[in-house]
Amino acid sequence: MQQVSLPDGTSVPALGQGTWMMGEDRAKRSAEIAALREGIALGMTLIDTAEMYGEGESEALVGEAIAGLRDQVFLVSKAYPQNAGRARLRASCEASIERLGTDRLDLYLLHWRGSVPLAETVEAMEALRDAGLIARWGVSNLDTEDMEELIDAGGEGCATDQILYNLTRRGPEHDLFPWLAARRIPVMAYSPVEQGRLLEDRTLAAIAAERDATPAQLALAWTMRRDDVIAIPKAGSVEHVRDNRAALDFELDAETLAALDAAFPPPRSRTPLAML
Ligand code: NDP
Repeated sequence: MQQVSLPDGTSVPALGQGTWMMGEDRAKRSAEIAALREGIALGMTLIDTAEMYGEGESEALVGEAIAGLRDQVFLVSKAYPQNAGRARLRASCEASIERLGTDRLDLYLLHWRGSVPLAETVEAMEALRDAGLIARWGVSNLDTEDMEELIDAGGEGCATDQILYNLTRRGPEHDLFPWLAARRIPVMAYSPVEQGRLLEDRTLAAIAAERDATPAQLALAWTMRRDDVIAIPKAGSVEHVRDNRAALDFELDAETLAALDAAFPPPRSRTPLAML
């Protein structure tokens, strides 16, 4: 499995698993658990969830899926911005840990920026790390200027910025990617197949078909073409998980990259970070 290095030197798989919208429908539960377990067996051991997803239902589902497998998994969860301060972060974190059936998170993220000052979030995150509840912390949906403010607020310990990034969302390549790369902070790319919409794109389908790949394989291989990007597609079936895993076996050559650049051009100027 291709790996990505976090700033503290820890290696994580470049292909993980997202879980938004999981755990919300009883009829889908066993398929979702089977999908997550298949992903773990295939090496997609980084699992991303959040207290927001199904108001805890996604974390509970992940807890069930990883029962007995905790030590194989790199577990990521996120706190609502309104909980990311001195008064509430510890309780939020403890509730996530409990729903996940574990005793610690490998990475805890601020889900998006709210009204709590970044310095206070940094202090609260570092207190959780000192208490052993989380191994490291990071952020999500922070654009370049927010990242600059975060560092100025004492946030040098930030392990990642989880952002919307896929072929149709290349804006961050203009300035956020270079800024993060200069500080060796990897990107965690969310919605890497644009919540399924990208897979309907005819040009992508044609480029993929010419190369005996599926659109998902091509879109994910492209997202992971850089060594500082972790992709976290969500898949609700074993079949989709296997398809996504095969993205790592697809070799992106210069001609394919050029065809994708022509169909999905890189940004020419600064584009504000989008969020879903
Ligand atoms: P994705 O881009 O991962 O798309 C998920 C959709 O694509 C689902 O409908 C899924 O269908 C479908 N899909 C996945 N793989 C395949 C495949 N091989 N073939 C066909 N269809 C496929 O969208 P998400 O928004 O879920 O993003 C991924 C994860 O990123 C989230 O689950 C969440 O963990 C995180 N996230 C974080 C955000 C943040 O603000 N920090 C915001 C949004 C997402 P099916 O379920 O049927 O397999």
